[in-house]
Amino acid sequence: MKCECGGEFEPYLEEIDGISMDCLKCNKCGKILYTSEQMKDFMSMKAMIKKTTTKRKIIVLGHSYAITLPKSLEKIGLKAGQRVSMKMTGKKTLEVKFGEEGEEKKEEVAEEEK
Ligand SMILES: [Zn+2]
Repeated sequence: MKCECGGEFEPYLEEIDGISMDCLKCNKCGKILYTSEQMKDFMSMKAMIKKTTTKRKIIVLGHSYAITLPKSLEKIGLKAGQRVSMKMTGKKTLEVKFGEEGEEKKEEVAEEEK
């Protein structure tokens, strides 16, 4: 797609309100553009984030700690038995990834403590 400046729009990942968003960026003037599909994704993701932002208590499960996750996360592809990857992103922040990316890296995921 062409920009009015004569540049070309290319796929780009922009962060808005802490959400990584697919969009298009002009390779000449840097103008950012969203397709209606990308805008729709953004709106539904914002609604989803609002719905799933909760406080949870850590529970003890055997010899491990566990956190329950809202069932509404099914809507974005989370399912029981799915593998997730987890990493610390700050002193008190954990990032949990699921979906294709998590599946690909399953060899790297340490087995749960026995
Ligand atoms: Zn442009």
